[in-house]
Amino acid sequence: MLVDSHAHLLSLEDPVDAVSRAAAEGIGKIISIGTGLESSNATVELSRKYKGVYVSVGIHPHSASDFSEEVMGELGGMLEDPKVVAVGETGLDYHYMNSPREDQIRSFEAHMELARRHSLPFVVHVRDADEDLLSMLRGTDFGTKPGVIHCFSGDYQTAKKYLDLGFYISFSGIVTFKRAEEVRDAAAKIPIERLLYETDSPYLAPVPERGKPNEPRNVVYVARLISQLRGLSFEEFTSIVFENVTELFPKVSKDKDGLI
Ligand SMILES: [Zn+2]
Ligand SMILES: [Zn+2]
Repeated sequence: MLVDSHAHLLSLEDPVDAVSRAAAEGIGKIISIGTGLESSNATVELSRKYKGVYVSVGIHPHSASDFSEEVMGELGGMLEDPKVVAVGETGLDYHYMNSPREDQIRSFEAHMELARRHSLPFVVHVRDADEDLLSMLRGTDFGTKPGVIHCFSGDYQTAKKYLDLGFYISFSGIVTFKRAEEVRDAAAKIPIERLLYETDSPYLAPVPERGKPNEPRNVVYVARLISQLRGLSFEEFTSIVFENVTELFPKVSKDKDGLI
């Protein structure tokens, strides 16, 4: 059973069609990620229509300036929903710097605290900000499975630093890009029980769909490539990653009834 551990269903042109196509392709679970209060709320609504669609609620680092105690309180209220399995995406993005650094740090701290209080994992986005992120993570005490570094685009040495803190590492379509040698090296080497994959759709469509809008069914290409790197059959590999997803996100059901 295939899982897309990170998609933004509400940012797709037609989420309903995309979910049907994913189901036809054998994808059994999708974790759809909120990027702000409104999209988190709407994603929870959408998840009620599908057995296998789950939600993570949070404020994207790009929108970190929207952060307030009030917004965090509302996000916190959503965490009781059975379909809400994680907090985020949150993190630091110094590449685009769409919100000032201080706002990103404040928002990330509040998300970590929320996740800790509710004993839920958090979904982390990091771009050109590993140093600050790692120092914040190291200064915080959380459980043995704090969360996932999503859309990992670094090398093995960087992955190792997050693994040492208990994080899972999730690979997106970047792993299929020609010049992503270092990312492939990391995907080949990290402990398999900490590996996840995702589409991050509608962004970053994998080869051979590159350049088109991405959608959850394309997680097949990401999974296939990593299974080859690991020297495992597609079936064996995807069943390991399915286990990993339910380990990290305990609210995701272990049943294999399918997406719809
Ligand atoms: Zn992201
Ligand atoms: Zn994302």
